[in-house]
Amino acid sequence: MNRKFVRAIFPGSFDPITNGHLDVISRGLKLFDEVIIAVGKSPIKNQLFTPEERVEMIAEIIRQRKMKGVSVESFDGLTVEYATKKKADVILRGLRSLTDVQYEFQLAMTNRAVAGIETVFVMTSEQYGFTSSTLIREVASLGGDLSNLIPENVHKRLRKRFKKRTPGEGSRKAGSQTGG
Ligand code: ADP
Repeated sequence: MNRKFVRAIFPGSFDPITNGHLDVISRGLKLFDEVIIAVGKSPIKNQLFTPEERVEMIAEIIRQRKMKGVSVESFDGLTVEYATKKKADVILRGLRSLTDVQYEFQLAMTNRAVAGIETVFVMTSEQYGFTSSTLIREVASLGGDLSNLIPENVHKRLRKRFKKRTPGEGSRKAGSQTGG
């Protein structure tokens, strides 16, 4: 029987991409023929890398790991508009915990109501259940070892980024994140 080709977009901030995101992508590839990683260009709180830098890092990983059926792009504006433009069948999102569910549920319901697009969720491996880009930025700013949680090229960029800052600046930044 002929099966329909299924294209998914995996939208997010990816500031930066983590092993948790990569775990979601590899699980998505078991379900879909193509996964487009879509890096949102809209300004986010405490942005560390520009959308171009985030795309660059992800493209490096796709190349290095020879990931088949995966590509990366940045996009502006509404996720559903981008999904329609790309003729995507589904939106892929990852779940870490019950706290994610509430927000993701609202987002998925809204996207379905406005564009009729379904969202498919995959649950991350337990080892990445506590990994978030925010936490990665904070720990990196304080010089922590993140080798188990992020790809090597991302780790390198983080080290470079925080080395450039004057001592203390990194921790002030991290502190300001909890301040709002
Ligand atoms: P956003 O700002 O849109 O939440 P993120 O880049 O933080 O973008 O996350 C993109 C998607 O990846 C979201 O569905 C998020 O729940 C999921 N995600 C992030 N980190 C992990 C992780 N460690 N394990 C599984 N899913 C994750």
